[in-house]
Amino acid sequence: MDLPKVWVLRGIKKGIVTSKFPSKGPTVDEQPQRSLPPIATPNADWAAGEKLCPTGAVQGSKKEIDSGKCIYCQRCATAGFAFEEDGAGRSRALQAQVVDSRIAELGKKQRAFGKSFHVLMIDVGSCNACNLEVLNLSNPYYDLNRLGIFFTNSPKHADALIVVGALNRAMVDVLKRTYESIPEPKFVVSAGACAISGGIFQGTESFVSPVQDVIPVDVVIPGCPPTPIQILEGLLLAMGKTKKEAVAV
Ligand code: SF4
Ligand code: SF4
Repeated sequence: MDLPKVWVLRGIKKGIVTSKFPSKGPTVDEQPQRSLPPIATPNADWAAGEKLCPTGAVQGSKKEIDSGKCIYCQRCATAGFAFEEDGAGRSRALQAQVVDSRIAELGKKQRAFGKSFHVLMIDVGSCNACNLEVLNLSNPYYDLNRLGIFFTNSPKHADALIVVGALNRAMVDVLKRTYESIPEPKFVVSAGACAISGGIFQGTESFVSPVQDVIPVDVVIPGCPPTPIQILEGLLLAMGKTKKEAVAV
C-alpha cells in the first residue's frame, strides 16, 4: 500500500483528534497537572511558605499567592500548600487575565470586521519551554488556524505580540522596537512567570524587569510554562472574546 493511502486510512481510523477547546471545556488531559497558584490548605503556614518560596509568590502578610510569580516548584508543599483541585470547582487550567480594559472596546471592533488575528511571538530570554508551548498551538491537535489565529514573523502584519521569557538587557530595545513596529490596534500578551515577573530569574544579573514595565500589556498568562490551552485562552481574550466565550466550560 502506498504512503498516501496509509495516511488516509489511519486518519479514518483515528477520527478527528483536534482539541474541541474552546467550544468544549478543556479535557482532563488538556489541563495542567497542578493547580496554579497552589491552594492554601486550612493548615497552611504562610510565614513558612513565604520563606520557602524562591520567587516571592507566597505573600504571607496578605495571605495571597501571586500566580504571576509562581514557578510550580512545589517547595511550599511542606508548609501546607496543595497542588490539586480544591473540590470547589476551581479550574486548574484557565488562568489568563485581561489586565487592560481597552481590550473590550478594541476587541469589539476586531469582531465587527470578523478579522483574522495574527500573532508575533518574541522570546526575550526564555528557557525555551514557554516558547515551545506557544509553538505547539500550530500542531494539528491544537490547530489554532481553525479559530482564525495565525502566527506571523512580521510586526507589520501582527495584531498581537506574545512575549515569553525573562527580559534581559540585550532584548529591551528589540522588544520596544518590535512593539512600536506593530500597527494599531495592537495587543500584548505576556506569557509565563518569567515574562510577567521575572520568575526564577528575578534578581539575576541580566534580568531587567517584568515586560509590563517596558511596554503596555493587555493579557497575562501565568504558568511555568503555561499549557497550550492556557495560552490559547489568553489569545482569545486578546482577540476581545469575553471570558465566557474564550472558555466554554
Ligand atoms: S510552587 Fe514554588 S513558586 Fe509557587 S508558590 Fe509554591 S514555593 Fe512559590
Ligand atoms: S516561565 Fe518557566 S518555562 Fe517559561 S521561560 Fe520562564 S522558566 Fe522557562
